[in-house]
Order: sequence, then C-alpha cells, then structure tokens
Amino acid sequence: MDWTWDLSVLYKGFDDENINKDFEQLKKLVEEGAALMQGDEKTALETCADAFETISALTNKLFSFASLTLATDANNETAQQLMDQLMKFYVRISLLHSAYVRYLGKIENLEDIIASSEKLQNIAFSLRRDKEAAAHLMDEGVEEWVLKMSLTGGDAFSTLRDKLDATLTVDVNGESMPLSAARGLAYHPDAATRKAAYEGELQSYTKIDISMAACLNSIKGEALTLIEAQRFPSVLEKTLFDSNMDMETLNAMLTAMEESLPSFRKYLRKKAEILGHKNGLPFYDLFAPLTPPGYEPKMYTIEEAREKLIVEMSKFSPDMGAFIQNAFDQRWIDIYPREGKQGGAFCAGIHHMDISRVMTNFTGSFSDVSTLAHELGHAWHNRCMKGLPECMTDAPMPLAETASIFNETLLSHAVLSSAEKAERLALLESSLMEATQTIVDIFSRYKFESAVIETRKDHSLSVSELKQLMLDAQDQTYGDGLDPELRHPYMWACKSHYYNSGFNFYNFPYAFGQLFGTGVFALYQQEGPAFVERYNQLLRSCGSARIADVAMSVGIDVRNPDFWRTSLKVYQDNIEEFITLADQLF
Ligand SMILES: [Zn+2]
Repeated sequence: MDWTWDLSVLYKGFDDENINKDFEQLKKLVEEGAALMQGDEKTALETCADAFETISALTNKLFSFASLTLATDANNETAQQLMDQLMKFYVRISLLHSAYVRYLGKIENLEDIIASSEKLQNIAFSLRRDKEAAAHLMDEGVEEWVLKMSLTGGDAFSTLRDKLDATLTVDVNGESMPLSAARGLAYHPDAATRKAAYEGELQSYTKIDISMAACLNSIKGEALTLIEAQRFPSVLEKTLFDSNMDMETLNAMLTAMEESLPSFRKYLRKKAEILGHKNGLPFYDLFAPLTPPGYEPKMYTIEEAREKLIVEMSKFSPDMGAFIQNAFDQRWIDIYPREGKQGGAFCAGIHHMDISRVMTNFTGSFSDVSTLAHELGHAWHNRCMKGLPECMTDAPMPLAETASIFNETLLSHAVLSSAEKAERLALLESSLMEATQTIVDIFSRYKFESAVIETRKDHSLSVSELKQLMLDAQDQTYGDGLDPELRHPYMWACKSHYYNSGFNFYNFPYAFGQLFGTGVFALYQQEGPAFVERYNQLLRSCGSARIADVAMSVGIDVRNPDFWRTSLKVYQDNIEEFITLADQLF
C-alpha cells in the first residue's frame, strides 16, 4: 500500500504542459478583468462572478500543486520557482479584487440588481460583504504603494522575526540546540530536563529580545496606521470585520471563559501536586506527561487507525464513514514522516475538483489518530461545500475549525466511553492539557495583545515593558494555577502569531473554534441522528453568512454567554473527573 498522497490528479508533474496553459489563462483573465467592470451593471457583475470563479479555481489548483509538493519535498526547486512566480502574481490578483470591491461600492441599487439575477442571488452574501468592505478600502492611487511598502514594512519584520526564531540556539545542560528542539523538551518525561530546557530557553531570548521587540513594535505600529487609512475604529474591530464576527459574540465568549478560569486553575494545581510542586505549576511543567503508574498507552498501526476512524465516524453518519474510506483509498493522505517533509499536519481543499489533501506525520500514538480525525474533519467540511460558488466557501477563521474539533471530540468521546480508569485519566489529562492552551493561554494572549496595542498608540514598548505585560496577562488568566515565580515573561517572543502583519488578535479564533466545535457536539449528543443533516448544512453555510447567523441556523445563540458556558461545562466536568481519578490512581 502506498501511504503517500496522489497529486497527479492536479498535474502529471512539473513538466505537464497544462501548468503553463493554466497560468497563461490566469494571467489573461486578470489582465482583462478591469475591462469587465463597465457598461450595464447587472451584466458586468455576472461576468465578474464568472471570471472570479475561474480565477479562484486556477489559482487554487496551481498554488496547491506547488505548495503540496513543497510540503513533502522542501528542496524541490521547480516547485519553489512556480511558488515564487505565483506569489509575485498574487499582488495583481489582489489589486484586481480591490478594483472590483471599489466598483461594487459605487453601485447604489445593488439589492435591486441582486433581486433581478439568479446567478447573483447565489452569491448575494459575498456581494453585500464586498460592498461593505468598499468603505474600508484605502484611497485609490495610495493602495498599490501601501501594498508594496508593507512587503518591506510589516511583512519584512515578520520574516525577520521568523529568522531570529529559526536561528536562535538554546543551551540546555551544556548542549546547544535549536529553539524548537528545546521547546520540544517540555514534553520530556524527565523533570530535570524539562526545567533545564525552560531555563535555557528564557536565557536564550536575551540574545534577540531587543530585535524581537522592534519587530513587534513595528508590526503593531503599522496595524495602527493601517486602521486609520482603512477607517476602522480599532485593530480589534478590523479583525472582527475580517472574521464576519461581532463584538457582542466575542464578549459573550470571553465572559464565559473568564468565569471558567477557577476550574482550570484547580486542574493546574492538581497537576502541580501530582508532580510534587507546592506553589502551583511551574510553566515548564504545563506539558509534562502524566501517566498513572503501570499504564502503557496503546499504539496504533495505520490500518488500525483507519479502521477506528471509519467505524466511529460511520456511527455518526454512514456518509462520513464512506467518505473517510474513500479518502484513504484514493490516496488523499500523506501519512508518514520522511526526510524533506515538513512537520505538523494540515488539510488543503481544492474546491472546484471536490477533493482535499491531508498531510500528517503519523507515528502511532492516540494523538496521531486524533490528528487524522481532525484533518479529515476539515476534508468533510470541504465536501459539505461541494458545488457552492468559490466566493461562498471561505469560512472565517473562528468557524474554520468547527468540523475538525467536532471530529476530535467525537473520537475522544468514543474512546473514553470504553476506557479503563488509567486510560481514562491519561486521555482526560492530554485533552485538558490542550484545552488549557486554547482557553487559558489564548486568553492570556488576547489580554497581552490588547495591552500592547493600547500602549503602542502612545510609544514603542521596551523589552521590560513587554515582559511585564506578559507576566500580568498570565497572572490574570492562569492565576494561582501557575507558580508566580516560574511563569514565562518571553511568550511574546515565542509565539509567531503576534507577528502576523495581516491578521492581528490571531488568538481568540482558536478559543472560538474549540468551544464552538464542543458546543455543536453537545447538540448532537442531545438530538442524536436527527442532528446530522443540520450539522452538514451548518458546515455548508460557514462562508455564506455572518458567524452569528450561521450559528443561529442550528439554533445556537453565540451572542449569549450561556452557549459558551455549556461548552466550557464539558471541560469543567472533565476537570472534576480528572481530580477524582488522580486521587485514586496517584
Ligand atoms: Zn485544524
């Protein structure tokens, strides 16, 4: 059995003449694009809709072929060349799209035109959204220069940040290693190794912290300048606009998260106690493995993992089970790690072909099986959007993890229901360890980023100010769950998300995804098989409405903290059970 993925359905290889043909067609469409926006408005909008549909399809196919090849073969120079050409060309596509948005913004009777055309009714949400976006476009004539300058501004600082991170070496017990390797030691079974890695890591940041602070100050400074040019009241409002989300929803979620913090602190203090700490958990033991005495975690072969996924997902819906079987049969998945292949896992959809590709680095742990379930959830999400116009398939970041978290929850629920005490404890612990990241740590990042942006309005922040704001944010969220002497003042240098120049507050979408997926699963538990069809419809509509409306379509009111409280209750119950089991088994 070949466990690599099949990309030949895209192109036969880099010498396939269709690559050139497609790229030429794409260039022609983009060149001729501006000419479509004139004359009768209804005809113009319909022609634009067709043109953008083809542009998206061609771009996606070409990008996917280059980027998927590079994902498993980092040194493939031909793939890299195509990628570079596409990236360069992408500025032209962005400018064409801005021209289109500007054109839409000037159409006064858009609603009448939509009502008169079946084609436009099918993309009405996208049209209305783009018309709203027109109010936030920069002045024509300035935009192109701002786009180009951001390549040497925010984007350049972001690249510099990645280079500083990638080339930093950490001294752990006299051994020099890359930062990523030192951070990986947080999962090491030996307590002294975890502690030494943490101390080495903190020490290493002193070599780059002034440069890192300069990067962060520049990126957040640029964000503040851009919102002025784009007429947004705040950086957060811009991120919410880009996410189809409103402030009321965000606040409802944060309210419930705030209330749940004491439970998470209880979990952290219990973990600290088991590991022999007196004053809360040291930061370096957040990821410490915790397995009950005598317990050996079960390992899976890929055949067992496939079988498990098909069986469990078929119980939810036979269609989803058959879909997963097909994904394996048709070689949608690149499963094992190998040289030149990147780490981690992801799923990429090629919408117009109704296919996805999933990359994992499977080594046989339960967490790897769960990752497969997660990525195949994304693939199922893509399948549910089959046949929709491309512009209606773009799920905003907070909703993008709905199907993946749902699948993870479904799998862990199935495994937990038949697990013995020791296995149950181990599974609960690894799930709570992750939830602590997506809820407590994400909340600390949200608070930190809010404080940085507020301060940056006044001045550039010094390294010591950044460190203090980070400690304050950890104090407000982790509280007495963490040892106050052993927190992590350099998390702002560690997490790349703060340095994404195009998307600020790249944190709350994680909490949203986790809690929304959990809440949707809770609905399934209440309603059983009757829920399946509504679930698929929910996934289908993720890019076709505002988040609050998408959620309301399955009866979820995301503006009400009660919904979020119900999701968080699942974790709070798990914490109580974890503590009870830990008292029995340790
Ligand atoms: Zn995901």
